[in-house]
Amino acid sequence: MKAAVVETPGKFVVRDVPDPVCPDDGVLLRVGAATICSSDLKRSMRTDLAQPRPYILGEEAAGTVAAVGKHVTQWKVGQRVAYAARIYCGKCQPCRAGYTNLCKDAKGLGWHVPGGFAEFTSVPGGTAVTEGLVLLPDNLPFEFAALAEPFACALNSIEVAGVGPGDDVVIIGLGFQGAAQAQLARLRGACKVIGVARSGKRNEIVRRAAPGLDEVLVSSEMFVPDVVRKRTDGEGASVVFVSASSGDALPLALGLVRWKGRICIHASIPAGEETLKLDANWVHYQEVTVTGSSSFKHRQYREVIAMMARGEINAGKFLTHKLPLSEIARGVELMKNREALKVAVVP
Ligand SMILES: [Zn+2]
Repeated sequence: MKAAVVETPGKFVVRDVPDPVCPDDGVLLRVGAATICSSDLKRSMRTDLAQPRPYILGEEAAGTVAAVGKHVTQWKVGQRVAYAARIYCGKCQPCRAGYTNLCKDAKGLGWHVPGGFAEFTSVPGGTAVTEGLVLLPDNLPFEFAALAEPFACALNSIEVAGVGPGDDVVIIGLGFQGAAQAQLARLRGACKVIGVARSGKRNEIVRRAAPGLDEVLVSSEMFVPDVVRKRTDGEGASVVFVSASSGDALPLALGLVRWKGRICIHASIPAGEETLKLDANWVHYQEVTVTGSSSFKHRQYREVIAMMARGEINAGKFLTHKLPLSEIARGVELMKNREALKVAVVP
């Protein structure tokens, strides 16, 4: 089969590789579409992934069941499914407590097992098959369904931060996650939804994608805390998401949050910038909560697919480019140069 492989760090090359085998307790998926995630860009630079070489990345995928292992009764050949990237153990303490997103033995598509940038991918047995595959409604194209993974991550952050009716939400960082959070915050009944971007370059792309955004503030052009206070009757935001991989975002978030507010760190902060210095008295007297969110639960994955099917999430707006798999290197460049919000590749 054709697959995009990474043999030299950062370089995606499409070539023939042996077809994957359908496991007895798993299924074989014919990939319908896979979308490029910033995690793929980071992972492409690594040489220590748990999957065999050459690495096949791609953690956001959907397709058709092409073969079913002899021990699998849950799936049939020909069914259209989305494939959740995260495989949890179901046995560790966080899994047993329901926090499968925090599984201590989690494995990932495109990370521990070959991913979706290929014509076929092998879905291993266990929770990958029992919970990781979700049957798709006929009206949902594969390239939209592949976005269920990043949307589920955004939904987890919305739930962790407890976004609800009347909240004034500020999102620092307007990549795909920030745009998805804006849309979901609006669906949860947020009052104001304000995005903060470092530069105006991506404004138009994000504005088109995220109708949930009331306004985008460009931090290099204004003093953001003053503007946020002005927009929130002088109070500040009730929820602030740190969705930019930047140490600068943390002190900014602390300057934007109001009494009883919640700050949710939803992006990995580069080493050396990750230490948070905060005004303990503000946290104490104003009962501010600082929390984090990571990955998603399969219940959330199913939920966003249902939201897409109902038209509440217009996935098409978030997908700025669709390319054949043979042009994946161009898609990766579009993501790196921040010219795309999301790129789908179709084998
Ligand atoms: Zn676990």
